[in-house]
Amino acid sequence: MTCIFCEIVRGNAPAFKVHEDDHTLTFMDIFPVSRGHALIIPKDHFENLFEANEESLARIVTRSLALAKAIRRVIAPDGLGVYQLNGAAAGQTVFHYHMHLIPRFKGGRLDLHSRVRGKDADLEAVSREIAAALEAG
Ligand code: AMP
Ligand code: ZN
Repeated sequence: MTCIFCEIVRGNAPAFKVHEDDHTLTFMDIFPVSRGHALIIPKDHFENLFEANEESLARIVTRSLALAKAIRRVIAPDGLGVYQLNGAAAGQTVFHYHMHLIPRFKGGRLDLHSRVRGKDADLEAVSREIAAALEAG
């Protein structure tokens, strides 16, 4: 079975990329729960936390620090949810490890998923804004 996130890593599927290094890729979730909803993935395929190694996890968590600050600068949310689901029973739907960063607002619903696909133009715009904020440090 092909893995959509591996296809994105290989450049065979499109993504609104925010950051890339040798080991990780950051891109916008195409069904964003809120504007700025981003995913960080390892380039190496492993299904979830139970199959992870410490080195890969450390790289993802390290990336999440800079990304969280960049999202805060661009979106100015009231809070930021950092989620990672393991197994279908926990709500995992893509079986390639990923960390969600989801801007949250006071009084808003705490949904983990959205059924509304983001508009390409919006996803593109916010990916550029967050990438620029990351570059600016
Ligand atoms: P999870 O339920 O934690 O496995 O989340 C998977 C996430 O991946 C969902 O929020 C989906 O909207 C998102 N997703 C699925 N396919 C793609 C894709 N091709 N590009 C970006 N995000 C995706
Ligand atoms: Zn994969």
